[in-house]
Amino acid sequence: MSLPTIKRVLLKLSGEVLMGNQQFGIDPEFVAELAKEVKAAKDSGLEICLVIGGGNIFRGMAGAAKGMDRAQADYMGMLATVMNALAMQNALEQCGVPTRVQSAIEMDKVCEPVIRRRAERHLEKGRVVIFAAGVGAPYFTTDSGAALRAAEMKCDALLKGTSVDGVYDSDPKHNPDAVRFETVTYDRVLADNLKVMDASAVALCRDNKIPIVVFSIREKGNLARVLAGEGVQTIVQDK
Ligand code: UDP
Repeated sequence: MSLPTIKRVLLKLSGEVLMGNQQFGIDPEFVAELAKEVKAAKDSGLEICLVIGGGNIFRGMAGAAKGMDRAQADYMGMLATVMNALAMQNALEQCGVPTRVQSAIEMDKVCEPVIRRRAERHLEKGRVVIFAAGVGAPYFTTDSGAALRAAEMKCDALLKGTSVDGVYDSDPKHNPDAVRFETVTYDRVLADNLKVMDASAVALCRDNKIPIVVFSIREKGNLARVLAGEGVQTIVQDK
């Protein structure tokens, strides 16, 4: 099963892939490798919007589980995504890719606010736009932020680069017999509560007919393979 022709893509990277082989934080060498993959995708003619999670630094749910106020912890998580966005901006610019960071929480010393029409202009000019701070509100995740930006920027697909190579019928870390889907519908993902993205992100993609491609970004060259329709992946779509 292949994707429709893609001109503009939203690439969502989970924060944990920025750790490389570390247990926490940002590994600049690994971020540089990721930036090369993004550069190669851009050089192939794609317009690229990027969203990066914050799970390598802080997750609101983890803070709340240890007694923190959930909303306060979520704001800390959103700030973590801004740090990741700046790390990726640095790595992309070091390999010659012009970028702009737009944050849903305004911080004008370090980046722009989210302004859709300005983001359009950046893409037209060949810049990669990194959207930080998710949707800018607690009780959401960066997956929802990615789905929202993919919809408002009219992206042809949402690529979710993570540590697993697709969507399974059960958790492959706990069940060695888990089977990976080649394709699966949005409705099945929601009905069976398959671990792809949170439900609000999946529903937003369904309602706006944005295919979600789940793949592992950990293996070198995988982004290019997935874009060429040759990678190991799961496509979440209508049928
Ligand atoms: N977050 C939030 N609202 C958003 C996006 C993120 O509150 O719109 C917070 C939330 O606490 C989340 C954290 O930021 O746990 C980091 O994002 P996420 O867990 O989505 O990162 P990932 O799992 O992709 O690394």
